[in-house]
Amino acid sequence: MEETYRPPCALYKKCGGCQLQHLPYPEQLRRKQAREIALLGPFGHVEDIIGMADPTHYRNKVCAAFALDQKKRIVSGVYQPGSHRVVPVDECLIEDETADRIIVDIRNMLRDFKIQVFDERSGRGFLRHVLVRRGFRSGEVMVVLVASSPVFPTQKPFVRKLLELHPEITTVILNINDRCTPVVLGEREKILHGPGVIEDVLCAHRFRISPRSFYQVNPVQTEILYGKAVEFAALSGRETVLDAYCGVGTIGITASGGAKQVIGVELNRDAVKDAIANARLNGLKNAWFTAGDAGEYLQGMAKEGFRPDVVFLDPPRSGSSEAFLKALLKAAPDRAVYISCDPETLARDLKILTAGGYRAQKIQPVDMFPYTEHVETVCLLSKLDTKQHTEIDLRMYEKNVTNAEKKPTAGKSRTMCRKTPDCM
Ligand code: SAH
Repeated sequence: MEETYRPPCALYKKCGGCQLQHLPYPEQLRRKQAREIALLGPFGHVEDIIGMADPTHYRNKVCAAFALDQKKRIVSGVYQPGSHRVVPVDECLIEDETADRIIVDIRNMLRDFKIQVFDERSGRGFLRHVLVRRGFRSGEVMVVLVASSPVFPTQKPFVRKLLELHPEITTVILNINDRCTPVVLGEREKILHGPGVIEDVLCAHRFRISPRSFYQVNPVQTEILYGKAVEFAALSGRETVLDAYCGVGTIGITASGGAKQVIGVELNRDAVKDAIANARLNGLKNAWFTAGDAGEYLQGMAKEGFRPDVVFLDPPRSGSSEAFLKALLKAAPDRAVYISCDPETLARDLKILTAGGYRAQKIQPVDMFPYTEHVETVCLLSKLDTKQHTEIDLRMYEKNVTNAEKKPTAGKSRTMCRKTPDCM
């Protein structure tokens, strides 16, 4: 007799982080594939989604909210969808297990070190969140304590005890967030132990990552994703490559060996600093990174006659901007490799790019976020020879802004912790 499938996690319904846990993994993949075909099929053939052999404990970044429950007990976990209530979570099916253990131990230490958790209503208390990041290959562990104030009287003995319990921790950072916004990390930081950054190895390159820089949360699938992106770019060693929305430079640096030069642009200054350090760390002499809006940057460069041969673009879930797409069509690279974490905004942007003279030649979904509804796609766009489409009508952009863009983005959502793949 066939066994009925049960969601493996008891918190599945309360937590809301794993929208597809009611389905066995192969079924989750089928569902994602069908969605990709529905949204992206009109632009070309959609390859079979690449799933994971072991789809559990893949998240190398874990973020827990701290609060008091109704009985005034300290709890740590995730915000219940649409509320300020914290659902206690000690172990999670998709999170790194070391990170989960560190968070539980921190919670158990709080009373002994007279650390109060922050109360959103009264604005009193200290600890708001704990964020843990673990380098997949390096094993280096970063702990970020997000607090309402820089005054931390028991700091020294607290950190000493934490390191005693978890010698694998390589750096501890105090992040100060005294604002009442849903964004987890504040602007100010104080390093309490170690270098304030961790390093990891991805696609045979070393990367330095600081607390506020974006770094993909599923390293196993990221190597597959970037591998596909670089394969699609088919670099010969002669190309000038633009890595737009470059984060800490992961894609550009991975591709740099096959290119003449790589230029990366990114809005987050911390990430740009990391990217510059990463170029140095990998001994590269052909990679440069700059801070700015990707659209403005490419527009400015296109005006000066700069023409990249290949563009990688990896925008946030809201997709690329009108300014960027317009500038891309003006710069007219031979190939663009679009890496997207939302097939809806990808479809919207593909309408513009295909109307502007590009063809989607390869569409490859990769399951970066098993058990959740999210899916990543890498799409190769090649410029058609004909000039007939080059006069594009960007009013299309307006028309094609779907509801997907109107949805709150990850950074704005209170329930972002552990629930959205591109959380910060
Ligand atoms: N390519 C990187 C980062 C992708 S996440 C990687 O794979 O790790 C998207 C990145 O776009 C984030 O680092 C975010 O800070 C950046 N970003 C968001 N809006 C931007 C904009 N308007 N211009 C440039 N970068 C932007």
